[in-house]
Amino acid sequence: MNYISTRGTAPVLDFEDTMLTGLARDGGLYLPEAIPSLTTGEIAALAGLSYEECAFRIMRPFIGDAFTDDAFRGIIARAYAGFNHAARAPLVQLAPGHFLLELFHGPTLAFKDFAMQLIGQMFQAALERNGQRVTIVGATSGDTGSAAIEAFRGLDNVDVFILFPHGRVSEVQRRQMTTPTEANVHALAVTGDFDDCQARVKDMFNHFDFRDRVGLAGVNSINFARVLAQVVYYFTSAVSLGAPARSVSFTVPTGNFGDIFAGYLAKRMGLPIDRLVVATNQNDILHRCLSSAEYRPDGVAPSISPSMDIQVSSNFERALFEAYGRDGAAVAQLMDELKAGGFSVSQGALQALREVYDSGRASEDETRATIARLQRTTGELLCPHSAVGVKVAEEMRDPSTPMITLATAHPAKFPDAVEEATGIRPPLPAHMADLFDRPERVTRVENDLTEIETLIEERRRP
Ligand SMILES: *Cc1c(COP(=O)(O)O)cnc(C)c1O
Repeated sequence: MNYISTRGTAPVLDFEDTMLTGLARDGGLYLPEAIPSLTTGEIAALAGLSYEECAFRIMRPFIGDAFTDDAFRGIIARAYAGFNHAARAPLVQLAPGHFLLELFHGPTLAFKDFAMQLIGQMFQAALERNGQRVTIVGATSGDTGSAAIEAFRGLDNVDVFILFPHGRVSEVQRRQMTTPTEANVHALAVTGDFDDCQARVKDMFNHFDFRDRVGLAGVNSINFARVLAQVVYYFTSAVSLGAPARSVSFTVPTGNFGDIFAGYLAKRMGLPIDRLVVATNQNDILHRCLSSAEYRPDGVAPSISPSMDIQVSSNFERALFEAYGRDGAAVAQLMDELKAGGFSVSQGALQALREVYDSGRASEDETRATIARLQRTTGELLCPHSAVGVKVAEEMRDPSTPMITLATAHPAKFPDAVEEATGIRPPLPAHMADLFDRPERVTRVENDLTEIETLIEERRRP
């Protein structure tokens, strides 16, 4: 399986190099040259299998000869062994025809664990085999950072640096990043917002001297392996509601467009998905773009769903690449325009996007009201991100097709917002009950490329 860049000029890579590289050298994101598909019979045969066996069958066509079948099965088994629920991604019913896919039973209580635990195992296997060392640098709006630290802490051949926006993540999110004691873990609190953090990570990838000197590797959802891991739960949930005989729709709380793009891949692989609904908070650039064709960032307004406080949505580039008929030059042109303030999607591409995606937004008040109402009507405590999804799903739902809304984080990660809405303070699970007693270790940095690069060179192990 070959991987190509969305900007058309980076070298074609195999799966292992795509995973270890992250961002393409032309600034683009990697995608498979051809998207493999499963037959109707193969999809039907997933019914009743374990999450791990489904993961193996769904991801196997993408990885080429990166791992033997036995090695890949071992990687998947270790990745999900630390989850707190036998089903890994259980489905809960909220109302007639409306279901919630609980993706928060992993070690750091957000859906990011599905991908990060898997790529932690894949990195380890690949690096041990090659005798290579890497420096992982990631930007986080809160959940990617803790999931990456959990997946890579204590590994001999990896140093991890996580950039998060100072003062803009929840206290649980921050403590999950600042309390691990392993020497290879470094939490950096950046003066700025998530878009600044993500921009500095991209700058480091485009600074080839630095990139090659430190062996830079990326685990943001610019890394295709992250997106791939998320394809699996679209299949397992749809199959448990009757796919492939019956179609389903999904609503996805969206920031960087990685999770919903995994849904698009599942659809392209043959899963009968009717609609994919993008749900945004008040930072609604994706909803505005799908409504008006205009993609113009206008600054992030901090919200109670901080993991979606994003205006420069990096995986949207993958969706644009598909919508423009895989024209890398056209995508490169749009990304140049974005640097200068924004771009307009062509009519043809907008139509292609709308054939796949719907969109909606939830205000702060609507989000709080949804948390309160769902607690009353179902007993389910929603995190604010999941509540954005539920609110938008209720508006967009077509009663003839089951709707699955992705619950992206555990309510205990955002206890203040949940308590304000419901009066109930969700407790942390037992394995992190002492989170507030552990000492924190964090470095404050300015939003300055040279300062951040210097710090990484000093701290990483040679
Ligand atoms: C990361 C995250 C999102 C957004 O996911 P994307 O893949 O960036 O669109 C939504 N909710 C939570 C809780 C998250 O951590």
